[in-house]
Amino acid sequence: MNEVIEKVKCLIIGSGPAGYTAAIYAARANMHPLLYQGIQPGGQLTITTEVENYPGYPEGIQGPDMMVHFEKQASRMGADIRYGIATKVDFSGHPHKVQIDEEKWIEADAVIISTGASAKWLGLESEQRLNGHGVSACAVCDGFFFKGKEAAIVGAGDTAAEEALYLSKLCSTVHMIVRRDAMRASMIMQQRVLNTSNIKVYWNSETDEVLGDTKVTGVRILNNKTGEKQEIAVSAFFVAIGHEPNSGIFKEWINMDDAGYIQTVPGTSKTNIEGVFAAGDVQDKIYRQAVTAAGSGCMAALDAERYLAAKGLH
Ligand code: NDP
Repeated sequence: MNEVIEKVKCLIIGSGPAGYTAAIYAARANMHPLLYQGIQPGGQLTITTEVENYPGYPEGIQGPDMMVHFEKQASRMGADIRYGIATKVDFSGHPHKVQIDEEKWIEADAVIISTGASAKWLGLESEQRLNGHGVSACAVCDGFFFKGKEAAIVGAGDTAAEEALYLSKLCSTVHMIVRRDAMRASMIMQQRVLNTSNIKVYWNSETDEVLGDTKVTGVRILNNKTGEKQEIAVSAFFVAIGHEPNSGIFKEWINMDDAGYIQTVPGTSKTNIEGVFAAGDVQDKIYRQAVTAAGSGCMAALDAERYLAAKGLH
């Protein structure tokens, strides 16, 4: 193993609402937390638009702006926030060891995992080949490039509904591909989608192929009730079919469910490894809200503080 270059009391991995909230609490408790932001500083909220359901923002707020606020607050409390990716962990003994950017190792008495979740893909060859050439998993990031053009979006949850509405303000027509005869999105979001004149919903439809050689020119869909195939000319294809937890590097050590979500002791943030805690979407496949992630980040910092105190380390 490479040399340990730093030793901290509390290491936080990930920078969504869970990680930053853990950092705020840990810093205020004088645990001098070190937080590594990961691949996507600010997490999933940085690729969303209006957040209307986070308490304290009566007029709503843009997701990226909210995450800037979280980071500033954690920083002001004294958290050491750095850009870097946790690439390996060794939870075989105390203190715990976490490798950053495939090179340096950090030792920590307590570790808080708040690595969140990432977008899922359909798994089609054409989807992968045309990724970045019209295929995207983030309408908010890439919709702008398709202003005035036609776009398709696959999915029927709140994310797909939110992104379809976002695209409807930029694109001439949004073709929404829904695999069942119903949407999973909340009723208010479904209603907004169905009441938007330039969103066309294709029920019972699956994506057969994304079309185009070097850039997206269309999508071929298959009606799974009639077996009928249909080609739709579009310039962009957005995938919004859910997420998977970013828990791969912990697999060897931490108990997870079949989908890779970290299992915590009910009512706490404790994992099966003493001194390792989990918060946010990486351990929550039910609620997955910014406010629940923030709440669980608070729990993780309090659990970590109690753990360190009980061990005489704080
Ligand atoms: P969800 O898991 O809720 O929805 C995924 C959608 O994608 C489902 O409609 C699913 O279809 C569809 N899907 C999955 N796999 C495929 C596939 N291979 N082909 C076609 N369609 C597929 O994910 P979301 O990201 O939408 O939402 C995650 C959570 O975040 C939810 O709890 C949601 O409520 C929440 N959220 C809340 C928001 C808000 O409050 N403003 C905004 C965005 C998300 P099927 O229904 O058939 O399974």
